[in-house]
Amino acid sequence: MLPRMSSAHSRRRLLLGAAGLAATTAFLAGDPQPAATTAHDARPGPKAPTPGPSRPPTLPPAATLSKPVFTLAGYREIVPGPAYAADAVALTIDDGPHPVWTPKILNLLERYHVQATFCLIGNQVLGHEGTARSVARAGHHLANHTYSHPTSLPKLAVPAIRKEIERAQDKIYSATAYAPRLFRSPGGSWSAAMMKQVAQSGLIPVDWTDDPNDWKRPGTASITKKLLAARPGDILLCHDGGGDRSQTYAALQTVIPALIARGYTFVSL
Ligand SMILES: [Zn+2]
Repeated sequence: MLPRMSSAHSRRRLLLGAAGLAATTAFLAGDPQPAATTAHDARPGPKAPTPGPSRPPTLPPAATLSKPVFTLAGYREIVPGPAYAADAVALTIDDGPHPVWTPKILNLLERYHVQATFCLIGNQVLGHEGTARSVARAGHHLANHTYSHPTSLPKLAVPAIRKEIERAQDKIYSATAYAPRLFRSPGGSWSAAMMKQVAQSGLIPVDWTDDPNDWKRPGTASITKKLLAARPGDILLCHDGGGDRSQTYAALQTVIPALIARGYTFVSL
């Protein structure tokens, strides 16, 4: 059974704001030099990883799954490793990097020593390479969330799906020297052809257990309540990109210390 899906059909419109439009224009122009960066981006910091070659390592094809991973237990069935602690939860943060909200959330995570998984969009990394690097530098894990966030990804032709995955992988890697091993589809939309393509790219398809619909800005209280309903083993979804994420940020300021106080341990995928 698939997890609860976000009905994120208007996500693409949200993402095609001024920054998204500029990035899309740049994409159409053939991915030229990044646009002007923020002051934050201009200071990569002393511990910034040195970006490697622009092409990420080729990953061996993975087994094609019938459904995406959406719990920690499901993740461990696919990715071998030590068992997660019984009280573990994973926080995943989608649609960035964003020059305003990503640094705020990074500071919050650092304050509570929480590791998360950031699902980056390639054309949002474009122009915000320094922000993307700061996510990797802080020790968080990165996932591939496509190049342009098409919510109808399963309906695209296979070569277009492959291009969305590969361009994002290239952009994330060239900015951060981190080669994602996970793939999250926009809006949690999947198809058998997509699953096959994700596997051929060597990536693990990942969804979520708990979706507070924070991108719809339902109010901080609503986001907080839904995230506080998390149980051990869950994968939590929220967003740092795609618009004004002040509600998400405010909710996380409550949710993270509350879940820690409950005895939960945050892990990255
Ligand atoms: Zn998304």
